[in-house]
Amino acid sequence: MKPITDIFPILRQPAKVVITMHQKPDADAMGSSLGLAHYLKKLGHTITVVSPTNWAPWLNWMPGAADVLNYDKERDKAQAALAEATWLFCLDFNIFHRTKNFEQDLYKAQCLKVLIDHHREPDVNSFDFGISNPAKSSTCEMIFDLILAAGDENMLDKEMSSCLYAGLIADTGSFRFDATTPAVHYMAARLMEQGIRHTEIHSLLFDNFLENRLRFMGHVFSHRLEFFYEYNTALIAIPKYDLLKYEIKTGDTEGLVNFPLSVQGIKLAALVIDREEERKWSFRSKDNFDCNTFARTYFNGGGHFNASGGGSKDSLQETVSKFKQALKENEHLLQ
Ligand code: 5GP
Ligand code: MN
Repeated sequence: MKPITDIFPILRQPAKVVITMHQKPDADAMGSSLGLAHYLKKLGHTITVVSPTNWAPWLNWMPGAADVLNYDKERDKAQAALAEATWLFCLDFNIFHRTKNFEQDLYKAQCLKVLIDHHREPDVNSFDFGISNPAKSSTCEMIFDLILAAGDENMLDKEMSSCLYAGLIADTGSFRFDATTPAVHYMAARLMEQGIRHTEIHSLLFDNFLENRLRFMGHVFSHRLEFFYEYNTALIAIPKYDLLKYEIKTGDTEGLVNFPLSVQGIKLAALVIDREEERKWSFRSKDNFDCNTFARTYFNGGGHFNASGGGSKDSLQETVSKFKQALKENEHLLQ
């Protein structure tokens, strides 16, 4: 993978471009993809943004979201765009299998492949150019850096900035996580100068659920949350039945895993959801517990130091047993 700066000389030649992101995109994946799309359009490129799957409806306010293709539903259009593309930009993921059904098309694509991402241990052999920097708060911050490094700060506008700001606040926990550097606040200031409505954006992301989600959370905290104080750990395990009963949709469970970290002494919070295809794990930690290694070792996943995810084909009960065994093996790291 050659450095991203190597694309700068050719970036100004108008071309057909596909931008994609990880499956079930969050605000950083969607915000960085649309932010980059707005920027590249200004440079004269023809852009198709493809999400591998559907996404939470509370991302639909983002300028450009209406034109994003859902690969699961519009496979032919996505494949046609990829076949014609000179460039493929892969944002907010580090290995093609994070794009689910889109994976094989990405491997086979003949175009130039560019990675821009902040997850650990990227699959660098799959990309021609790119930048991977786990120290960065968000992929949105990396798109902002790219625009500035290309000398195009004057191209920032309100639409681009709104998309990038959304990912920035989502991935920094509204400026509270460790990755919130002076550079993050510098970026926020530059975006605010473009006239974004920051209070409204925060609300659109975090106060945009339906009643069922709040009642579901009440149920989960009362009945599905278990503490293991000897390991400073909390676990939420959600059976399929709960998802059906409370009509839980894509995006409704986002953020849930963070709540147990609000309890004194808790260092590791884990969430497992019994989804159709697999048991989906999320991990969040405080301080020096490495969620990336934990997810990689036990649950075929990965991510960041303090936030990661994984999956299991086992039953909910089996995968929870495996988690409890993993806690025992990690006891010394959880003190
Ligand atoms: P979340 O818990 O919000 O789904 O994911 C937390 C972080 O871990 C995100 O940055 C996400 O991209 C990453 N992640 C989630 N699931 C997986 C997975 O199955 N594999 C890998 N490699 N990363 C994941
Ligand atoms: Mn991200």
